[in-house]
Amino acid sequence: MLLSIVNLAFLIGAVLFVRGLSMLSSPETARKGNIYAGAIGMGLAILGSIFAPAAKLGAAEVHNNYIWILAGMLVGGSIGYYASYKVKMTAMPQMVAIFNGLGGATAVLLAMVEFNNFYSADVPEGGMGALLSSALALIIGGVAFTGSMIAFLKLEEVIKDNFLVIPKFHTYLNLLLLAVMLGLAVWVVAMGDKGEMWMAIVFMVVALYYGISFVVPIGGADMPVVIALLNTFSGLSAASAGLIYDSKIMVVGGLLVGASGMILTLLMCRAMNRSLLNVLIGGFGGGGAAGKAGTGEQVVKEVSMNDAAIQLNYSKSVVFVPGYGLAVAQAQKVCKEIEDILEANGVEVRYAIHPVAGRMPGHMNVLLAEADVPYPKLLDLDDANSFLANADIAVIVGANDVVNPAALDDPSSPIYGMPILRVWDAKHVIVLKRSMNPGYAGIQNPLFFHDRTRMLFGDAKDTLTKLVSELKSL
Ligand code: NDP
Repeated sequence: MLLSIVNLAFLIGAVLFVRGLSMLSSPETARKGNIYAGAIGMGLAILGSIFAPAAKLGAAEVHNNYIWILAGMLVGGSIGYYASYKVKMTAMPQMVAIFNGLGGATAVLLAMVEFNNFYSADVPEGGMGALLSSALALIIGGVAFTGSMIAFLKLEEVIKDNFLVIPKFHTYLNLLLLAVMLGLAVWVVAMGDKGEMWMAIVFMVVALYYGISFVVPIGGADMPVVIALLNTFSGLSAASAGLIYDSKIMVVGGLLVGASGMILTLLMCRAMNRSLLNVLIGGFGGGGAAGKAGTGEQVVKEVSMNDAAIQLNYSKSVVFVPGYGLAVAQAQKVCKEIEDILEANGVEVRYAIHPVAGRMPGHMNVLLAEADVPYPKLLDLDDANSFLANADIAVIVGANDVVNPAALDDPSSPIYGMPILRVWDAKHVIVLKRSMNPGYAGIQNPLFFHDRTRMLFGDAKDTLTKLVSELKSL
């Protein structure tokens, strides 16, 4: 009876995972999708997993660890609950990186426990299959854990992309390390019950180090792809941990996360005009090179608040280009207020969304959805570039790298080759930012010195709020 209930919980949980994930693809249904997949589906999967051993073996055969499990769930659940309320929208990518990393760390711990059980048992259970699934969990989990921690430190800007001089042969070093790690995996599995715990420990250290070495050289415009890839790894590490325990729901859930992460990785690669291999081998990266633009005695031209409001009010079409600064300033709602004022005056308003704007895939879409900007007003890169060609004004709200023309015409620039928004095709460009500081890639932006560009310095939310007052007084 209990086994049937557990299996039913797994079945409903799996269906909810799939249904919830498909609902995440649209902003209207995403919130419900999160509740279906993340809350109800996962809740059923956890409950089922807690009772599965008793259901399979009978209550008498199972260690009574329920208090430990409950205590772990209380601690973990409270941290998750607290983090979801406290974390700022701008720190969301870092939180995702930490969660990815912790998924990987869990798989590493489970694999090490299993290695220990295997080597310390008089008659080891599971044979080669047990060693193989533990090795898989160790490799993928190890890379997901340390790789995500490096990604977290980079996103938090604790370490800069160029904090280490990465030698040209680093790629070969990584390939060698990969070969050593796979060699160790084959060795550990092939040795079977003749192996010893120290071998698993060496294997673990190499896997953890490989994660660091793999992510350290990747930076700048390639970071979004890496984050999506680490997401894939964290899903796959859960799936391989599921293999250790013969837990179908863990395998299903892990594979779903892994597959959706992989789809996102490939979409990001396509949006960035890069092959996955190219990203992994390196090429972009922060580099720290200033590029040739902006190094001379160029001057920027500013626009007054009043002139900017008049220009906006008397234009026919305006394109807002949001970037990371919009998230920092939390300016999305004021932006929407300006959209409403302009549209009431007959101005056509659109938002140009670059696939890597902000600090996580879909960052701008989430912010603008929060401000109730209608989804059809959001244009993807190609549509935005067509629209910009006939637009009167492009208003850059805290974006920088995604509108940097050096990506198109400066082969010495570290972001050369990345597709960008051609904002200078609009008749006028107004840039809202606080200073002349560079963006994430750490490079100068020649757009700020362009003939059509005018700077409006200040915090984006303050500036837009002042523009609202100016527009209302016209
Ligand atoms: P950038 O990081 O290039 O630029 C953001 C700009 O916002 C800065 O120049 C900053 O200038 C300005 N800014 C910051 N705070 C404010 C504020 N309060 N008010 C007004 N302006 C502000 O952002 P983009 O969105 O253009 O580009 C994203 C970058 O991040 C790309 O290089 C991308 O590769 C990278 N990345 C993206 C990820 C993703 O998944 N989307 C993940 C990891 C990295 P100032 O300080 O002068 O105000």
